Amino acid sequence: MTTHDSMSCDVLVLGAGMAGLSAAGYAAEHGATVIVLERAKSIGGSALLSGGILWTATSRERMQLYGTGIPGLGDVVLRNYARGLEWLRRRGVAISPAVPVLHGRGYQIDILDHLRGCKNLVEQHGGHVALDTESRELLRNDNGAVTGARICHADGVIDVHAAATILATGGYQNSSELRAQHIHPNARDKLLLRTNPMSRGDGMRLAGFNRAFLGIETPVEESLKEAQKGQNLRHDLLESVKKIQSYGIEVMAGFIVGFDNDPDDIFDRMINFIKDSAIPLAMVGLLTALPNTQLWRRLNSEGRLLGESGGSNTHSDLNFVTRMDSARLVEGYKSILRSIYDTREYYDRALECLRRVSQTGFKSQRGTSFLNDLSALTRITLKLGVRDQDRWEFWRYLTQTLAHNRGAFADSMRLAAMGYHFRKLTETYCE
Ligand SMILES: Cc1cc2nc3c(=O)[nH]c(=O)nc-3n(C[C@H](O)[C@H](O)[C@H](O)COP(=O)(O)OP(=O)(O)OC[C@H]3O[C@@H](n4cnc5c(N)ncnc54)[C@H](O)[C@@H]3O)c2cc1C
Repeated sequence: MTTHDSMSCDVLVLGAGMAGLSAAGYAAEHGATVIVLERAKSIGGSALLSGGILWTATSRERMQLYGTGIPGLGDVVLRNYARGLEWLRRRGVAISPAVPVLHGRGYQIDILDHLRGCKNLVEQHGGHVALDTESRELLRNDNGAVTGARICHADGVIDVHAAATILATGGYQNSSELRAQHIHPNARDKLLLRTNPMSRGDGMRLAGFNRAFLGIETPVEESLKEAQKGQNLRHDLLESVKKIQSYGIEVMAGFIVGFDNDPDDIFDRMINFIKDSAIPLAMVGLLTALPNTQLWRRLNSEGRLLGESGGSNTHSDLNFVTRMDSARLVEGYKSILRSIYDTREYYDRALECLRRVSQTGFKSQRGTSFLNDLSALTRITLKLGVRDQDRWEFWRYLTQTLAHNRGAFADSMRLAAMGYHFRKLTETYCE
């Protein structure tokens, strides 16, 4: 085994652009020893090309006008935007008066001053910002948790160990392969680019980005309109899932039943959609009204709220008066779970998913320990291939994987274990 020089720190940041240096400076100011590694010969990334307008949408609703994204992360931005501005002001970074930007508001800041200030904070607190340094791979412990990165620097190959590692290597605009995969095949060579040459999607590659969670909610158009999920109406949902899978990305998804517009055959339509889309890990829940959401306000004004939500949308409690008979809704919901997590049905979906994603795309990242892999395989085989009452289905699944898709063996075992977990949960919910 080759050994490399090594060093350690509290926080390792890959990428010295807007996100990386801001995080590094803030962590250093709060007492962390930080190492920042930058691939280019200078700091700044795309941030240096930017207009330096620090802006955000002014409400959750306005932020959702931008379509995709994780609402919880949007909330973090909304909650902390003022604190971020305050941090810049406290450090003496020049900030313009407020200006309107698209659906929000922003301030032009002296971006170079901010980035240099963050670099100084890192160095003043005993850390380093190293330029012209390539991050080759992430280091992981036996459980697969990231513990740093192996980097290539003028001094040689160095293992940097860290309690926390932040991937802030920017976008992928300068990778024709990733543009074709994630935007459109024509985006490979027919886009006018306005980007930093280092934006090559290194962070996605290092992290082994090969799974995506989609909030599909429902295959019913009227219910999507009711849920204000306009982004899910722009393209055919089944085709979109297939396209993502064809790029080597496994799709997991969330589904909901209980909308006012759900038709009588919603349960069969949901089951068929999940089967046709070959989404093994489909998380189906009953619609729940959470306080102060648009749904909650509407149901409140219609006098249909029954009480506070327990916070779980997989239990069979309804906290509002449904259009469909509630007993029928709950029974139909359970019939979906029983059907999609039926052992044969699940394994068939997993096989089809693996067939679709294996045609191209990234290889999965796994733990680095052979012993750990062997122990996981033994436990899965004992549980599913020996003790489980549906063990013959497991052996059929395993045989088909080895016969037709040997390269996906590790992922097939992962999916088998996760499917078992969902089957057991289904048994609990459907008791
Ligand atoms: C022309 C232009 C104008 C813009 N104007 C605005 C604006 O006015 N307001 C606004 O909010 N946004 C604007 N943006 C977008 C904004 O610049 C980006 O959203 C922001 O810089 C993203 O920050 P980041 O840290 O994720 O990426 P970046 O700022 O690009 O930083 C990523 C850094 O990671 C480095 N890197 C890449 N790979 C590796 C690796 N393997 N190892 C180590 N380092 C690596 C890169 O060299 C880079 O320095 C603009 C963008 C452009 C191109």
